[in-house]
Amino acid sequence: MAKVVATTSAAFDRRHLWHPYTSLTDPLPVYEVASAEGCTLRLADGREVIDGMASWWCAIHGYNVPELNEAARAQLTKMSHVMFGGLTHAPAIELGKRLVDLMPDGLDRIFLADSGSVSVEVAMKMAVQYQHARGHGTQRSQFLTLRGGYHGDTTGPMSVCDPVGGMHQLFAGFLPQHAFYDRPPGGVDEAIDQAYLEGLEQFFAEHAAHAVAFIVEPVLQGAGGMHFYSPAYLPEFRRLCDAHGLLLIYDEIATGFGRTGQLFLSHTASARPDIVCIGKALTGGYLTLAATITSAHVAETISGGAAGVLMHGPTFMGNPLACAVAVASIDLLLGSDWPSHVQRIASQLTRHLRAAAQLDAVKYVRVLGAVGVVELHEAVDVAHFQSYCVAQGVWIRPFGRLVYLMPPYVITDREIELLCRTVVNYVLALPPVETP
Ligand SMILES: *Cc1c(COP(=O)(O)O)cnc(C)c1O
Repeated sequence: MAKVVATTSAAFDRRHLWHPYTSLTDPLPVYEVASAEGCTLRLADGREVIDGMASWWCAIHGYNVPELNEAARAQLTKMSHVMFGGLTHAPAIELGKRLVDLMPDGLDRIFLADSGSVSVEVAMKMAVQYQHARGHGTQRSQFLTLRGGYHGDTTGPMSVCDPVGGMHQLFAGFLPQHAFYDRPPGGVDEAIDQAYLEGLEQFFAEHAAHAVAFIVEPVLQGAGGMHFYSPAYLPEFRRLCDAHGLLLIYDEIATGFGRTGQLFLSHTASARPDIVCIGKALTGGYLTLAATITSAHVAETISGGAAGVLMHGPTFMGNPLACAVAVASIDLLLGSDWPSHVQRIASQLTRHLRAAAQLDAVKYVRVLGAVGVVELHEAVDVAHFQSYCVAQGVWIRPFGRLVYLMPPYVITDREIELLCRTVVNYVLALPPVETP
């Protein structure tokens, strides 16, 4: 029974495997990776590329990391998985202890979820159950959020993603309707824009009576547009949530574990969230794991509600293998001088991307921590850009008009320079933008 007709592995992949946001009839090219080490991906055809993406921001220590390999190996010989219903284990407990230490005081009740999107689903369900338990019933059912956000691809998170970028019209009638306000103006060092703040206050006044929570990515909106805004807005978010009885949810799945130069933005004084989602770099990019962390007050209120329990419990909750690697990844991060690595990456990105800021095709260049963004006037031809990058020995995945770098923290200065030079040279060679 010869079912498989495709002759090569590339042809098989093209015909049978769905890739992220990709057509199955006209897919973009993919490159087969055979192995990875440090910041280098080795392609099946023998070529090597420097990774500028940290595998969608997860692989903060690079690849094939001895400490993480050892943690996985050691846990494998004990058990790779066991159900979390009615059972517990040392990897989950050890990870829990570390997360309690890492989070600001008062955020110490942890739900271990199996992906970032699921952790956001759990945060949303926590907020709904919390408001129900407080006697608000169904009159409070909406979420307030910002345009330009990204919170994941399952339907709950998708409903609070940017309505345009998240293609809400495509799923009209299926997604719950939430309330959106403009994102804060750009610039991490900018003072608060009073007109913006008044608009946000108005928005809360209009919608908060029907809302359970305000959910945002603090300071750095990631996949929704790589937009940076001032941390000065965070205490305002806190104040408005308090004034209107809403929970404040920070989605730190992208910003967590030092990416912006701070370990977590949830530590910002007078702007503590009620619920935090973390994921991505939690296992150093080894395995899928995320967490939703809240306060005793929220946890106790939910537990005192009609259901008496938080209504969520995935099959792979608290997976021991993922927890063991997460423990090793956190220990490795905290044992390293990560702040100076992130600072070094920031200054290298600033230095080498500066040249792009002068180019006609470029709208903005911005850097925050180990994140460098070149925003163009027009969308990038992804297939063309990637074949250029691979030929230059680098791996960068742009989206829309955004070419960005989010490398592993262990990347060397020379590797950063090559990544930046490739971006600048590509943009230099773009045909001139037509002005009407
Ligand atoms: C990536 C991301 C998610 C979704 O995480 P998945 O693990 O892909 O489900 C949610 N929120 C933010 C801010 C993210 O960057």
